[in-house]
Amino acid sequence: LEVSNKPEKEDNKLNWGNEDQKIILQVENLSKTYFQGKIPVHALRCACITVRKGELLAIMGPSGSGKSTLLALIGTLEKATDGKIILDGTDLTSVPEKLLPRVRREKIGFIFQHYNLIPTLSALENVELSMRFSRVPKKERGGRARKLLEELGLGDRLSHKPSELSGGEQQRVSIARALANKPAVILADEPTGEVDSKTRDSIVRVFKELSEKGQTILVVTHDPEVAKECSRVLRITDGVIKD
Ligand code: ADP
Ligand code: MG
Repeated sequence: LEVSNKPEKEDNKLNWGNEDQKIILQVENLSKTYFQGKIPVHALRCACITVRKGELLAIMGPSGSGKSTLLALIGTLEKATDGKIILDGTDLTSVPEKLLPRVRREKIGFIFQHYNLIPTLSALENVELSMRFSRVPKKERGGRARKLLEELGLGDRLSHKPSELSGGEQQRVSIARALANKPAVILADEPTGEVDSKTRDSIVRVFKELSEKGQTILVVTHDPEVAKECSRVLRITDGVIKD
């Protein structure tokens, strides 16, 4: 599978020279407090995480422990209460609001439990659409979408709508979509939550293959079978990380 392997800027102070050891994501003292009415909920407390390029990192913890919050913060879908997130040399917590959609598009790939594909579009169109504002040149997008889907074993499903695909196939479309813009990191929130064990295994295999090629992936999971295939497991309880 084709993944982002573009050389990083020389001035990236997190680049220690060895490509394999390069830190791609640094989370520093990250906290998030939501308010449920007047009651503060400390969903994440002072989290520190260092992730190297090509890691397949499992995030585990009980329901309500802050796993989705952590991904939403890294994905810039939620704003941190405190702390820093440095992704691929960019401090996400200091990016102006109006530039966030672009940074998100260019640096982050999302995979959700419920796939979140657009039901009226084909598999190919779903992947192409994710490149509509992308730096991938317009004339290359169709070919790139097709190639990604073919590599994920969906070459004969290009014109199928999501409703015509199995859960596992829909999830592979969403993986192709996440990869389309060559993101620095893929954030997957319980991506195997809705599929049978055989499909789960094939999704995990795809993740492993991608990570071996240098794609960094963070995957929230409840499934020990998924976690044991990951390069590292991070555990969260009550918003506190213990790794
Ligand atoms: P997990 O993904 O581990 O199940 P979450 O990150 O979704 O946990 O939630 C962590 C805590 O933050 C929970 O107590 C949850 O109720 C709370 N929470 C999550 N999102 C919001 C929100 N948008 N507003 C208020 N509270 C929230
Ligand atoms: Mg969650």
